[in-house]
Amino acid sequence: MKKRALISVSDKTGVVEFAKELQDLGYEIVSSSGTAKVLRENGISVIEVSEITGFPEIMGGRVKTLHPKIHGGLLAVRDNPEYMKQLEELGIVPIDIVAINLYPFEETVRKGAELDEIIENIDIGGPAMVRASAKNHKFVTIVVDPEDYSYVVSMLKEKGEIDLQTRRKLALKAFRHTALYDSIISAVLNEKFGINEKFPDELSVPLRKKSKLRYGENPHQEASLYVSPVESDGFSVAESEVLHGKEMSYNNYLDVEAAVNLVKEFDAPTCVIVKHNNPCGVAVRESQPEAYKEALSRDPKSAFGGIVAFNKAVNIETARLLTEIFLEVIVAPDFEEDAFEYLTGKKKNLRLVKVKNFESSSAGLDFRRISGGMLIQDRDLRLYEEWKVVTEREPSPEEVEDLLFAWKVVKHVKSNSVVIAKNKATVGIGPGQTSRVDSLETAVKKAKEFGLSLEGAVLASEAFFPFRDSIDEAAKHGIKAVIQPGGSIRDPEVIQAANEHGIAMVFTGMRHFKH
Ligand code: 5GP
Repeated sequence: MKKRALISVSDKTGVVEFAKELQDLGYEIVSSSGTAKVLRENGISVIEVSEITGFPEIMGGRVKTLHPKIHGGLLAVRDNPEYMKQLEELGIVPIDIVAINLYPFEETVRKGAELDEIIENIDIGGPAMVRASAKNHKFVTIVVDPEDYSYVVSMLKEKGEIDLQTRRKLALKAFRHTALYDSIISAVLNEKFGINEKFPDELSVPLRKKSKLRYGENPHQEASLYVSPVESDGFSVAESEVLHGKEMSYNNYLDVEAAVNLVKEFDAPTCVIVKHNNPCGVAVRESQPEAYKEALSRDPKSAFGGIVAFNKAVNIETARLLTEIFLEVIVAPDFEEDAFEYLTGKKKNLRLVKVKNFESSSAGLDFRRISGGMLIQDRDLRLYEEWKVVTEREPSPEEVEDLLFAWKVVKHVKSNSVVIAKNKATVGIGPGQTSRVDSLETAVKKAKEFGLSLEGAVLASEAFFPFRDSIDEAAKHGIKAVIQPGGSIRDPEVIQAANEHGIAMVFTGMRHFKH
């Protein structure tokens, strides 16, 4: 009996050559109508599915291949004589090779089609055949990716068959293909229907590999970058354009994420310098070069090898300053042409990264892997619940500006975190300590190390002060205003300490732990 190949593809890339090769190798080609037409036009003889089923394609193709004559052929268990006898009696011919790719659901969504058209592009018969063939991979070769046509042909030419290991690999790819397809459908419809269920009972998150990374957090860890096909029109660090420089590393991506999310908090020209996921210098100024100079002066030691983020396109004046020290990445909404020329001319390895849709807000949820599962939460996109002055002294207008600035920064520092700021620039940052007083000490130490005055500065703490000790300590250094969520049982004691020292204190009613 002649071997049979079933070909039913929406993306017709490479299908003519593939079918020709299969025909030359002695395969009989079976196709659905659109594919059959293309193949025939190219001189390939094809049996149409409807000739086999004795049933026309109906409802504009909604039902084409969903028929026992096709599915019996796909699921035929060659080493089960009883089943094979059944097939023979019913005139069902086993199928050996199957090439399918599905209705272009994603492309239809991306081109902005109406809901009806989107729904019409949910493939039904395709996934059924893909899954049937993949299930029966012991006997059937399933090809879902035109990229695989050529090696399937070469293997057939070389060995006369596709070996079991290859059939298994292709079956896995096929199951992933239909799983991804369905997860995209459910994610898209969740949004299109306006249901937006955030935490459904089952969750499948579509992700597609963008690139293999050189390594993970450390050289002995393998890593890859995946992007979300359903978040592609929003703000995206994963889909940033690396315009120049060395390949982005795993840690670069994490740091860029941290830096950009912080710099996005501000409207005026701002510079954020990040090291190991924490900011080490942040400044808001009237001009971008000034913002960079100020941010750098806050901790030039840590800034070495840092990630620098801007909220405006990088200009030539800033570019000239940026080449003065070693930096890993410059990330911005864009680069002005002369700035780009200058940077690329001066620094071969410096990564220049343009974040995708910088102005859009972050979409989707925040995922953290734990052993055996995943923690999923809303992103921390809000700033404060209230702005309540709890002390006898009101903060001055300058202090209010600095308090707001410090509050925006502290939200993006690993807990426990304390940020001291003055004139809309950080003076000292104390990240990731196990006690709040230690964070304060680190922030003070940093300020002193770089000769920055703490007199008249403000302090932000991402969570409440459990004791008055930090306030007493802050007062010693000349801190004049404090911002914190409040909510401790010892709030009265903490407020009293502030009053004793003439410190103005604001409660925000919103905590910003960052673990
Ligand atoms: P063609 O262009 O050959 O007419 O159609 C190929 C496409 O139809 C493929 O993407 C294939 O997955 C899909 N397809 C095959 N059979 C069926 C079916 O019975 N129902 C639906 N909705 N799609 C099918």
